[in-house]
Amino acid sequence: MASGEIFFIEGENNGRFPHCNAIFIDDELPTVIDPATREKYLSDLHRKNRIRLVINSHYHIDHTRYNRLFRGATFAAHRLDAPAIESLDENAKYAGIYEKPWFEAWKKVVKEVWKHEEVEIGRTLEDLEEICLGQNTLRIIHTPGHTPGHICVEFVEKKAIYLADIDLTRFGPWYGNAVSDIDSFLSSIERLRHIKAETWYTAHGAGIFSGDITGKLEAYASVIHERDRRILEFLSKERTKSEIIDKALIYGKKWNPPQMFDFFEWMMVSKHIQRLEKMGLIMSKGDRYVSL
Ligand SMILES: [Zn+2]
Repeated sequence: MASGEIFFIEGENNGRFPHCNAIFIDDELPTVIDPATREKYLSDLHRKNRIRLVINSHYHIDHTRYNRLFRGATFAAHRLDAPAIESLDENAKYAGIYEKPWFEAWKKVVKEVWKHEEVEIGRTLEDLEEICLGQNTLRIIHTPGHTPGHICVEFVEKKAIYLADIDLTRFGPWYGNAVSDIDSFLSSIERLRHIKAETWYTAHGAGIFSGDITGKLEAYASVIHERDRRILEFLSKERTKSEIIDKALIYGKKWNPPQMFDFFEWMMVSKHIQRLEKMGLIMSKGDRYVSL
């Protein structure tokens, strides 16, 4: 008989990319969320418990990389992210790297080094959908922004919730894919303030929080506003795209490989620039930008 317990599986290296923390629910329908760390542990878990359902909180490979271990299970994800889990090419299109000269090299690493395999999503999820596992009911909370189909998963009876990549880390929200969206991210954080939970799990970093996390959610959202301020200040003088990337306003310092740093730094900054331009706070001329 299943215990009905929820187990938090701490990711290697504190759940840092390319790992993430995962969840196992020992229930009549044994379920795993975001299997992307501790390969041996996860494969033993499947052998002993015959996992029937694997939920991916979104399409990022640091959340799906060990899907392949769960043969026979049904894979579930939000409808909007499902295509990017089923196909690496779609994944790259969502990310915005499909047209990049380094796309093939990325794909090779994902397939050969990470041993990632595409899986078919047998069950697409919608906001507020409930899944009964036996002793536990899961409730899907659609929280777009990081990706369009990003979800949090509430464990209704346990008054707990898995926040996935709304990870409350000091780095703050990440929206470095073509399909990511800052305003949706802020709305999703706001929505979480109204969730009543006693235990909060995240995919990266410390991973478990208890009690009232309103202050943590506010601090996390404030990173976005702080980035807005930093960008506006740097653009008090007209700057080019490459000067902006060189300043590493988001990451703080450059990392390797440089073409990937440049891509993700610009993807993040340019989303702020578009938003600030809409607010009438920045003006652009070609690849030159200045705050007003
Ligand atoms: Zn992610």
